[in-house]
Amino acid sequence: MLILMNVNATEEQIQGACKRVEELGYRPHPLPGATRCAIGITGNKGAVEADSLSQLPGVAEVIAVSKPYKLVSRDMKAEDTVVRFDGSDATVGGVELALMAGPCGVESRDQLFRAAEAVAASGARFLRGGAFKPRTSPYAFQGLGEKGLEILAAAREAFGLLIVTEAICHESLALVDQYADMIQIGARNMQNFALLKLAGRSRKPVLLKRGMAATLDELLMAAEYIMSEGNYNVVLCERGIRTFADHTRNTLDVGIIPAVKRLTHLPIIVDPSHAAGKRDNVVPLARAGVAAGADGLIVEVHCDPDRALSDGAQSLYPTQFDAMVKNLRGMAALVGRTMYEPQPAVAMERK
Ligand code: PEP
Ligand code: MN
Repeated sequence: MLILMNVNATEEQIQGACKRVEELGYRPHPLPGATRCAIGITGNKGAVEADSLSQLPGVAEVIAVSKPYKLVSRDMKAEDTVVRFDGSDATVGGVELALMAGPCGVESRDQLFRAAEAVAASGARFLRGGAFKPRTSPYAFQGLGEKGLEILAAAREAFGLLIVTEAICHESLALVDQYADMIQIGARNMQNFALLKLAGRSRKPVLLKRGMAATLDELLMAAEYIMSEGNYNVVLCERGIRTFADHTRNTLDVGIIPAVKRLTHLPIIVDPSHAAGKRDNVVPLARAGVAAGADGLIVEVHCDPDRALSDGAQSLYPTQFDAMVKNLRGMAALVGRTMYEPQPAVAMERK
């Protein structure tokens, strides 16, 4: 159920409608739109008594939402969500393409700083790098844990980048929440519902990666878990899915981008690295993502990928990343997007 407020409804009327929803035993989710506010209602087992809500002051309409996902749906909010970050003018979901880059995992201060300096100079606004790595083998590099988060936080200060890093469990989520600007939920945890709820209680934006065999509905329901707890800043990420194709690590499902855009107001970015599996395939997939309307890219970059502790084969050299970004500027303009111009003075100072 969804309450659509009048275009000129006052803040008091919005509060009043929320209060009434609470009195009925449900949870109100006010989401201001460009012209009017909508209030999503969750927590109801069956139909909500629409009559008692439709007569409240300032209420235009009470609408039943038939889809299983409610807060993520375009019915709830017609215009695109633009995710913002404290202390930065970077966005995800606005006209500017969001560019996130960095190594798969944080391995050392020197390794992360070298990559951070390079990607910042190319125009990335976000630094990626896992401090907690969900690995197929328990014997593989598991990440540096909190030490990795400290290194990421230091790199944020040094290069003015926003930090996006993965949480894999309750304990790591509490830590990531303290240090990072954006909490990444990885493909393997897309349906870890307890973790999704916890991320929903954070006030940091969440990057939700599509599970390797997840349908669009399952991805949207995972986002709904986060939003149902009150965190409305969710960014979806297509990173490739498992198919019979064995020429890439995962099959990049470019077609999900327009489908997502039709059904939800949430932004979606593309991870060409985990789809490609090999660095030579990363750039064409990145271009495909942007051409299809993605709101940004998250790309693995490493200065010495042959010695990387994870995902070296799919990590771009900084020079390749730089060339890719320069090349994407033309394509971005074709699809009505802008790209952040790195500040040469800042980049020079850090040399
Ligand atoms: C990663 O971003 O390094 C990662 C583990 O990604 P995914 O969850 O998409 O496999
Ligand atoms: Mn990786």
